[in-house]
Amino acid sequence: MRQKIMVLALAVFVGAGLAVVTGTSQQQAPPLEMSEVVEGLYVIMGSGGNVGVRVTGEGVIVIDDKFERNYDEIIANIESVTDEPVRYVINTHHHGDHSGGNVRFSAIAQVIAHKNVRANILRNDQAGPPSVIYTHETAVFLGDAEVQAHHMGRGHTNGDSIIYFPDLGVIHGGDLINTGNIFIDYNNGGSFLEWVDTLDRALELDFTTAIPGHGDILTKDELRAYRNKFAALETRARELVAQGMAPDEFVANLPTDDLGWDLTGRGGAGAQGVYAELTGAME
Ligand SMILES: [Zn+2]
Repeated sequence: MRQKIMVLALAVFVGAGLAVVTGTSQQQAPPLEMSEVVEGLYVIMGSGGNVGVRVTGEGVIVIDDKFERNYDEIIANIESVTDEPVRYVINTHHHGDHSGGNVRFSAIAQVIAHKNVRANILRNDQAGPPSVIYTHETAVFLGDAEVQAHHMGRGHTNGDSIIYFPDLGVIHGGDLINTGNIFIDYNNGGSFLEWVDTLDRALELDFTTAIPGHGDILTKDELRAYRNKFAALETRARELVAQGMAPDEFVANLPTDDLGWDLTGRGGAGAQGVYAELTGAME
């Protein structure tokens, strides 16, 4: 506890220093928080995507690794529950808030991801591409644990994986599952229309608990409700297209407030992408 308070104080001090140096009112990064999901599996929330920590008895398997700057704090959190070394890191997708730590973790662990994660990281000039890739699925067996990675189709990007802990009945969905706003990364092969199919495949797995890429943990029923929001929005979007709306009109009229989403950010890129997908303007 005392150590935690000191870490918090240091974070506040560093944050305040940065704000003074840059002369901005930049937000201070909150400290990371780790909690147990089920025995043997932890989640680290705060600053970037949710990190899964599977302690196996013979080493640790980490799912996603936030930003490079979070590396030391991730390691400190893991060391607070186990002496075992991190042996593997699996990225759910290429975004820097989920794979930025690769550049540090690759010195101590094997970094694994879908082949499109590696391609996207290289094309976008990000650091830390995974050194081991797969096309459809892979699994890591370590100690008493099995951790599976399944590419079940496109959605948030073209390289999304669902990470499955079969012995624990838990999945980590990366940003395919986000309890906040959704982001369809069309520049990296994302697809709104395929997202719902991808979630349907994920729901076929035998699990009770889902760790999202961002936000709090969901039950399987809550994940079904989340999946149904995609289907509801698709129905609405198809109706507007059937009315003959132009792209700008479509973006302005697609209702998403009740779903808790806003697709008009980034110049309406999300809604425009949906329109392009529905009208066949996107291959
Ligand atoms: Zn993402």
